[in-house]
Amino acid sequence: MNTQLFINGQFVPAKNGGTIDVLNPSNGELITKVAAAEAEDVDIAVAAAKRAFPSWAATPAAERGRLLLKLADLIEENLEELAQLESLDTGHPIRDSRRLDVPRTAVCFRYFGGIADKIEGSVIPVEQGFLNYVVREPIGVVGQIVPWNFPLMFTSWKLGPALAAGNTVVMKPSELTPLSTLKIAELIKKAGFPDGVVNVVVGYGKTAGQRLAEHEDVGKIAFTGSTLTGQSIVHSSAGNLKRVQLELGGKGANIVFDDANIDAAVNGAAWAIFHNQGQACIAGSRLVLHEAIADEFLEKFIKLAESIRLGDPLNPDTEMGPLTSEAHRDKVLSYVDIAKEQGAKILSGGKVPEDPQLRNGYYVLPTVVEAKPMDRVAQEEVFGPFVTVLRFKTDAEALEIANCTEYGLGSGLWTQNLQRAHLFARQIRTGMCWINSYKRVNPGSPFGGVGKSGYGREMGFEAIHDYTEAKSIWVNVDANVPAHFQRG
Ligand code: NAD
Repeated sequence: MNTQLFINGQFVPAKNGGTIDVLNPSNGELITKVAAAEAEDVDIAVAAAKRAFPSWAATPAAERGRLLLKLADLIEENLEELAQLESLDTGHPIRDSRRLDVPRTAVCFRYFGGIADKIEGSVIPVEQGFLNYVVREPIGVVGQIVPWNFPLMFTSWKLGPALAAGNTVVMKPSELTPLSTLKIAELIKKAGFPDGVVNVVVGYGKTAGQRLAEHEDVGKIAFTGSTLTGQSIVHSSAGNLKRVQLELGGKGANIVFDDANIDAAVNGAAWAIFHNQGQACIAGSRLVLHEAIADEFLEKFIKLAESIRLGDPLNPDTEMGPLTSEAHRDKVLSYVDIAKEQGAKILSGGKVPEDPQLRNGYYVLPTVVEAKPMDRVAQEEVFGPFVTVLRFKTDAEALEIANCTEYGLGSGLWTQNLQRAHLFARQIRTGMCWINSYKRVNPGSPFGGVGKSGYGREMGFEAIHDYTEAKSIWVNVDANVPAHFQRG
């Protein structure tokens, strides 16, 4: 496969010839080297996107949609290769890459392919004698910076709405997991997108990422990643006051009430935290349990956690793979020490697996810790297979716990009482809330957070609004309308 930068429809080396080692997280071995973009390469990519913009914006919307639909088809045709690449590079179990990551990527591109020619304006009822209408116009060149946890899916969440709305794009994947995005670049070329409409510059955050965020010719930066980097992007973007969309960290509360269906909640809570080794911004990383059911729940939950099959991501039996990098594995393990220092109880896991076959990979056992709501492990994003259990007595206390972090991305509620569920869903300060479920996503449904989880929304028509500018046009339709400048 191509491992170079994708600029103006061609795969090219980085100007200074630099490369990045891409490692296999399940054994630490080198998979390949990819070109490493620096500021100069980003400038060339932005210039290509800028040149491509006028004609892409003027391309009939139905044609833009057709290309996105074609891309969705190509992704399905290349399902197996994409699934293998994603699992090799990120450590996602292949069973999930095949049934979730790749199909969801295709479905998302298809959704935005369908939306492209349905982006409508509106007519506003203003004073007599005037017609006022509003059209939605593309922003221009959009920079997109993506993290390592769901690299393939995020190409569709970000490229889909941007391209449907008529923007051109420079995308910077994470330096840790660039492979599936480079494969998507190949498919973009094959689908027939004009040169320069999509450019992919793999590179480090401090060089390529920062340059993209600062660039004067970039009209919007869409970022998914940590809250700290998001804050730095806001500073970098200030020069030309570009629009910024931020999808940042989370500390999702998954609340189980005393009337919940316990077996369903146990299963849902395990999925909420252990899917993708807990490396999900929306992970249900705080398990908030009513004291009446907490012991029964934990017994079942820990039994399930301890039975999860860790292994080679490419083995179809594997249910949990390695974390994405050694540094990240060490960060996750450091929270076990932090938990102990603050008097929290390690109920399960908290270490690397003993299996010698997993020795060279970045694995961590599913970890269950009981703590207090303001402990660091209940406040900070661990981003691993690490769940913090908190107990509550009353609904008011559950709500207080749920809302006592600076994040506000996803939350879950498990109860048979619909009135309580809907009331809570409105009172929880998160961008998404799941009732008797967790972590559902659909390209039609807006995705994003509040507070330090960021702002702006991906997916659905909300995303189209985030990738367009509203232009208000006033027409004087009555020659008798008095002039503004009146004398005497
Ligand atoms: P990160 O912030 O370290 O990196 C994300 C991306 O930003 C990478 O491509 C990186 O190269 C780039 N980057 C780093 N420094 C930069 C800088 N100064 N300027 C410009 N770009 C820079 O995050 P990560 O470790 O890759 O991903 C994990 C984080 O992402 C977690 O905090 C997680 O919650 C968050 N996340 C959020 C969502 C969401 O939708 N809210 C989804 C997935 C992940």
